[in-house]
Amino acid sequence: MFTIKGKTTDWELVIGLETHIEVLSNSKLFSGASADYNPTVAPNTQVSMVDVAMPGMLPVLNEYCVEQAIKMGLGLNAEISRKSKFARKQYFYPDLPQGYQISQPAEELPIVGRGWVEIMGDDGQPKKILIERAHLEQDAGKLKHDVHPTKSFADYNRTGVALLEIVTFLDTKNPENNSYITSPDEAERYLREIREIARALGVSKANMEEGSMRADVNVSVRPVGSKEFRTRTETKNMVSFKFIKSAIEYEARRQIEIYENGGTVSQDTMRYSQSDGTTSVMRSKEDALDYRYFPDPDLLPLEVSEETIERIRSTMPELPAATRVRYINMGLSEYDAARLTETTDISKWFDSAVNGKSERAKPIANWMISELFAHPENWDVKNAVDTAEQGEARIITPENLAELVDMISANEVNGKQAKEIFIKMLDGESGTPKEIADRFGMKQITDTAAIEKAVDDVIAANPAQVEQYKSGKVGLLGFFVGGVMKATAGKANPAVVNELLRKKLS
Ligand code: ADP
Ligand code: MG
Repeated sequence: MFTIKGKTTDWELVIGLETHIEVLSNSKLFSGASADYNPTVAPNTQVSMVDVAMPGMLPVLNEYCVEQAIKMGLGLNAEISRKSKFARKQYFYPDLPQGYQISQPAEELPIVGRGWVEIMGDDGQPKKILIERAHLEQDAGKLKHDVHPTKSFADYNRTGVALLEIVTFLDTKNPENNSYITSPDEAERYLREIREIARALGVSKANMEEGSMRADVNVSVRPVGSKEFRTRTETKNMVSFKFIKSAIEYEARRQIEIYENGGTVSQDTMRYSQSDGTTSVMRSKEDALDYRYFPDPDLLPLEVSEETIERIRSTMPELPAATRVRYINMGLSEYDAARLTETTDISKWFDSAVNGKSERAKPIANWMISELFAHPENWDVKNAVDTAEQGEARIITPENLAELVDMISANEVNGKQAKEIFIKMLDGESGTPKEIADRFGMKQITDTAAIEKAVDDVIAANPAQVEQYKSGKVGLLGFFVGGVMKATAGKANPAVVNELLRKKLS
């Protein structure tokens, strides 16, 4: 159910994403030119005769890019096509010197077939998002319209770099199969999952800011309980999670409004305006481009052997979905496991803090999620929050947190003291948690005799409450615990305090 300004509507969202990731490879998909197009490289210095389509030049398929696509396909739990084809997609635009893009059309066989990724659904439960296909294609160059008042420039360094386009599946024959994205948050979690899989496999940097990950966003709405899918629009070339979510929200509201006013949505291609968060029609279905696809006569069908697929499979590292299962087996909840696998950096941090001691898993997860996630500047996880500023703040290491958690379970400090030590670390206090505890005399009092004195004092000072407690108001226990903690300057072991109080008050 979709909410507008906090109000739930009778509409639900149907979202399909076409995600492009730039394949990490030394050279381009069909030429030997370097595939490193980063902005520090001088324009048009990494362009081969093939990339600018000089007459007579022939494309040669880069096997490494094919292997990268297979690796990603396996990461998407997908079928790998033993045979796939390349075709020419004709369009004329100055960023594409060939006059066509070599791609793998859906009707022909793309290298990666049906698969799925698992994300956390909006209900907090794991949800499968089906993948229809993933195919290899050439990227286009970059046009620069802002360097000269009357001229435009073209930089072909990126022309011909391999892209892998991953398309989510919508089971139109079975519209009750809800294994697709249904909210802006799920769209973001899906894209982050794709990003993490691509990074864990070394297939792509999948970095939206750098343009190595982009998405076309298809949106339609339908009344809750409806049995068929309605017309969708496609918003092209989105380059940030924030804009993608905002575009989906806007587009959904726009479509709902059209239907509620008795209109119909037309299948348009939209553009998104970053300045005001709106979408507007770029071209309508009527002027849809006719790409006049035809098989590329310069390229043979691509055949991949079973041995190649198995060889690549055998090199696969642990992917986020498997990491989550491992965490759940360590006693974490689905939610915790999902949060801790948001990036590989986070899960590596967690693993190194736990360091094989499974009794640490739950407390470390709790501290990370409730404390460290709120202070991204204080830990050495990059991308924990995309905007994290690495300022002067102290960096808390996995060893620091592990030590703190161990101190609690060894009864050296209580939870309150641990929190104080933690805050001191955040504030830049130097040293390990043990050193900080020593420096500030934060040692938990577990010695029963010492605590007993304080317990007796608190009981003696509050006869009325003792009376009430004894006549059944057991909720007052917290009042006594608080008194004893105060009397011991927060140093008493709360478990011992509780036990003594219960005994003496009964
Ligand atoms: P195209 O080739 O026009 O881009 P595709 O069939 O490849 O179309 O679909 C593109 C994406 O749009 C896919 O992810 C698909 O699941 C999604 N999609 C298709 N129909 C709908 C719909 N009615 N609502 C939302 N998304 C849709
Ligand atoms: Mg499309």
